[in-house]
Amino acid sequence: MKWSWKIAQVAGIGIYVHATFVILLAWVGFSHYLPRHSWQDVADGVLFIIALFTIVVLHELGHALTAKRFGVRTRDITLLPIGGVARLERIPDEPRQELAVALAGPAVNVLLAAILFAMLAAGERVTALTDVTLVGGDFLSKLMWVNVSLALFNLLPAFPMDGGRVLRALLAIRMNYLRATQIAAGIGQGIALLFGLLGLFVNPFLVFIALFVWMGAAQEAGMAQMRSAFGGIPVGQVMTTEFRTLSPGEMAELALARLQSSTCRSLPVLRNGPLVGIVTLENAGEFMMIQAAMHARLLPGKT
Ligand SMILES: [Zn+2]
Repeated sequence: MKWSWKIAQVAGIGIYVHATFVILLAWVGFSHYLPRHSWQDVADGVLFIIALFTIVVLHELGHALTAKRFGVRTRDITLLPIGGVARLERIPDEPRQELAVALAGPAVNVLLAAILFAMLAAGERVTALTDVTLVGGDFLSKLMWVNVSLALFNLLPAFPMDGGRVLRALLAIRMNYLRATQIAAGIGQGIALLFGLLGLFVNPFLVFIALFVWMGAAQEAGMAQMRSAFGGIPVGQVMTTEFRTLSPGEMAELALARLQSSTCRSLPVLRNGPLVGIVTLENAGEFMMIQAAMHARLLPGKT
């Protein structure tokens, strides 16, 4: 994702934080400063957000490491102000595997909540949810409730939450994938509608979540439709047979001109018949950047 910084790497998976996250930190700092004008409150608030997002990273790693066991790689994990996103290379084909991957995230939160509860109970410091405040209050208690809420929220049976995937996987064990997705998406949109209506009377924030859930369901149904449309069709039927080729001896500017004048995004390079390479707009662009950088470095040396 653009505008993201890499902050860590776990099991070969890069963990990135999106620039908008800084805005969230600033907002949290500001809202903690206002009530009492105390820098201690600001530090507490920022520390809490960092702890919160560490929990989110652990949740996403739960998905990613479970997927890894089934041979599915994760491109990266990015932290956005709304939460974390683990970009898996694909969804496991086997419904039982998708079920395990989807459940692994919330399972991390259940485990963390249980550990925190045990720690708090040992010191008789358990705070009821109604006594938890945004500013101040017991740090570990707040973290425990965060884990409980994350587990419950993510298990809502609606896309794009984990619960939506759990529901789809359970259905897909008994029926085909497309039908399972359509039913799960329908249930998700029903929940979104309910949230939206409830939000109008209770909390406008719910309307925002409802919108997010509604779009997630529609997107998931669309993707399943495409997957099923492509299922069982040989590549020969979707490939284009109208393309032009190059030979290694031809000039690169010709390749560029051809790429720019046609709808093809890549050109095969043939040496007297066999394929020896591919020219794409992206790698031509990269080559140009490297050339420009080398020029920039060479020029001062000439004087
Ligand atoms: Zn999750």
